[in-house]
Amino acid sequence: MILISACLCGVDCKYSGKNNYSEGAFELFKSGKAMLVCPEQLGGLSTPRHPAEISQGTAEDVINGCCKILNNQGEDVTKQFIKGAEETLKIAKAIDCKKAILKSKSPSCGCGKVYNGNFDGTLIKGNGLTAQLLLNNGIEVVTEEDI
Ligand code: SF4
Repeated sequence: MILISACLCGVDCKYSGKNNYSEGAFELFKSGKAMLVCPEQLGGLSTPRHPAEISQGTAEDVINGCCKILNNQGEDVTKQFIKGAEETLKIAKAIDCKKAILKSKSPSCGCGKVYNGNFDGTLIKGNGLTAQLLLNNGIEVVTEEDI
């Protein structure tokens, strides 16, 4: 079984209340070998919600408690992001997941590049928090751009 970001399969769980439909991801989902997750909803955030970015650090820094995730109103949503990542890992372990296909650039799901924390559209090297936690637990993470 694999995990797929729910927004890639047409679920309207994106911060804007919309989705990030990807035909490739949806085809995999239809094969019956994937489970959908939305870490931000699993962490208790509402939909729609204000967009958030990792602020002044990396996902690993967030895991280590030395940096925060803030939304564009300046509100600290680190706790909800950590909860969502942990719940996603719990699901991954329960289904013996070895691979996840997650939404690129997201502060939760992104893998390889994420926004820089200034809400100015600039991408930097790095991972979203959930992606990082899955990687740290030996799960391969790719994005919809890789399939
Ligand atoms: Fe949810 Fe991840 Fe999609 Fe964001 S990118 S809406 S956290 S599944």
